[in-house]
Amino acid sequence: MSHFVCKGGCGGVSEVEGFCEADGCPNQWQPLESCDCQDGKHFAKNEDVEGVAQVTKDSNGTELQDGDSVVLIKDLPLRGSSAVYKRGTKVSNIKLTDNPEQVDCRIEGSEIVLKTCFLKKV
Ligand SMILES: [Zn+2]
Ligand SMILES: [Zn+2]
Repeated sequence: MSHFVCKGGCGGVSEVEGFCEADGCPNQWQPLESCDCQDGKHFAKNEDVEGVAQVTKDSNGTELQDGDSVVLIKDLPLRGSSAVYKRGTKVSNIKLTDNPEQVDCRIEGSEIVLKTCFLKKV
């Protein structure tokens, strides 16, 4: 059944067309919007921005995928050691992580996390 809701955050719902009357609502005196949800969530679908896939991108903005090969665009000192991964080092078979700014990979047998801003897809 259709109803009218305020989207200002006051949670106002009315069975008839009208205006928000809630004191302090940013949409006070704005017309209510019609809604026909069955579940009482009112426009939840439109406002649900969570669940949008995060895209992992290299330094050029190219999308990276699991299994891609990249090269380092910068000498990267390895934390906790004197080793340096040289610019131009090719890294195969990267793995995306939950963080779109980092990928997991393996260089010379060590598992390391690389920042995508230092990578270029090849
Ligand atoms: Zn309101
Ligand atoms: Zn609704």
